[in-house]
Amino acid sequence: MKRADSTPRIIFSSEHGIDRSLISPKAIEVVDSLKSAGYSSELVGGCVRDLLLGRKPKDFDVTTNARPEEVRTLFRRCEVFGRRFQIAQVRIKNEVIQVATYRRFPTKKSRRRGSKFVSLNGKIIKDNLFGNIQQDAFRRDLTINSLYLHPSDMQIVDYTGGYEDARNGIVRIIGSPAERFREDPVRILRAIRFASLPAFSFDGATEKELSVYAHLLSGISNYRLSDELNKLLFNGRARTTLELLHQHEILRILIPPYKWLKAGMNDNHGVIDWMRLVLDATDERIQSGEHTSLAFTIAAILWPKFNNSLKKRSRRKRNYPFHVARDILHQQNIRTYIAGNVAQRIEAIWFFQKILETEDTTKSTRLVHSENFRPALRLFELRSKVGEVEGRKCRAWVKLRDQLVDESQPRMKRYRNRPRWR
Ligand code: ATP
Ligand code: MG
Repeated sequence: MKRADSTPRIIFSSEHGIDRSLISPKAIEVVDSLKSAGYSSELVGGCVRDLLLGRKPKDFDVTTNARPEEVRTLFRRCEVFGRRFQIAQVRIKNEVIQVATYRRFPTKKSRRRGSKFVSLNGKIIKDNLFGNIQQDAFRRDLTINSLYLHPSDMQIVDYTGGYEDARNGIVRIIGSPAERFREDPVRILRAIRFASLPAFSFDGATEKELSVYAHLLSGISNYRLSDELNKLLFNGRARTTLELLHQHEILRILIPPYKWLKAGMNDNHGVIDWMRLVLDATDERIQSGEHTSLAFTIAAILWPKFNNSLKKRSRRKRNYPFHVARDILHQQNIRTYIAGNVAQRIEAIWFFQKILETEDTTKSTRLVHSENFRPALRLFELRSKVGEVEGRKCRAWVKLRDQLVDESQPRMKRYRNRPRWR
C-alpha cells in the first residue's frame, strides 16, 4: 500500500476499460452540477469498485470539497443526515445519490483514546473533520473502496494502491488493521463481505487481525449490525461468507444463540452443515432473481436451535414453544435488530412446521392460502433434505402448493411487493 504523502496514480480509460453506460446519468448530473458550481467532485467507493469488477453498482456515492450545507443549496431535493458522519442525500427522480464531503483523520493529539473524537477503547465517535481528497482516501476502509472516478474523462485517481488490489482480488485494510478495526469493528464484516467475492482473498495482515478484534462487534448497535447482516446474507455469496465468518470465529458473535460454535471444533449438532444448506438455497434464489426474505432466512438459520430447545424444555409449561421462540429471538435481537413484524413471521414459520408434519394434505387446502405457508414449506423442504421430515409428506405439500398457485396469486403479489428483507 502507498504512503499517505505519495502522489496518486492515474489510471486512464484505455487501461481500466470501465463501461461508462453502467454509470447512472443522475450520479453524473450531481458531479457535473458540483463542478459547474466551482467545487471538485468525483464518484467514489463501492460504485467504482463494482464498475472495475464489471458489476452494475446498486448505488452511487459522490465526494466533493463542498460542505454538506453548500451541497444542500445546490440541489432542489437534498437533505443532510447523520451526526457522527454528516452526509448529503440528493434526490433526482426516484434515485438517491449520497454526497460526502472529503474527510480527514483528527490530528495525532486529538486521535488519542478518550478524546472527543475517539472513545477510551479506540472507537471513533465523531468523524466530521473535513479535509482534502488525499486525506479522504486514507480514511476509507479498504484500498479497493478508496478509488475516485472522474466521469467526464473516465480517469481513476488511486492514492492507496486500490487499483492493483482490485485487479488482483485483494482485500486490504488501509493502514494498520488493528487500529482500523478498533476504530470501527464493522470494517471486519465489510472486509469479510468483499473477501467473499469471486476470486477475492485477504491480504495477510488484514486477515490476521479479523478474529482478534471480532469481539468488539458486541459494542456496535444492533441496528447497524442488522444492516450489515442483510448485506452478508443477500449479496448472492452467503455460503462463502458463512465459511469466512466461521473460519474467523465471527459467526458465534453475529448469531449469539450459537455462541458455543467454534471453528475447528466438532460441530456435533450439525449446525454448520445445516447453515450451508440454508445459505446455498438463499444464494440460488438470489441468483435466479427469486424473492427471499429476512424472516425466512433467519427462521431457517435458527431452526436447529428452536427445534433442539423445544425438545429440552418441559412440555408441561403452558405455551412452551412460544417462550422458546421468544428467548431465542431475544438473544438474536441483542446483536442484530429484529423488527416486531419480522419476529412474528419467524415464529409463524417455526410454529407452522408442526402443522405441516401432522396435518393431512388432502384435507388442508385452506392452509395453502395462509400468508406464511410458502416460507414455512421452504423450511419444511430443507428439513426433508436432511431427513428430518418425511420426503413423501413434503412432496405432497409441494404438489398442493403448485396446484393451487393460481388461487393464491393475489396474496402472493402483495407479499412480493414488500421490501426484500421483510
Ligand atoms: P455497498 O454499497 O455494496 O454496501 P460500499 O463500499 O459502497 O458497498 P457504503 O456503505 O455505500 O459501502 O460506503 C461507501 C464508501 O464509504 C465505501 O466504499 C468506503 O470507501 C467508505 N466506507 C464505508 N464504510 C466505512 C467504514 N466503516 N470505515 C471507513 N470507510 C467506510
Ligand atoms: Mg455504496
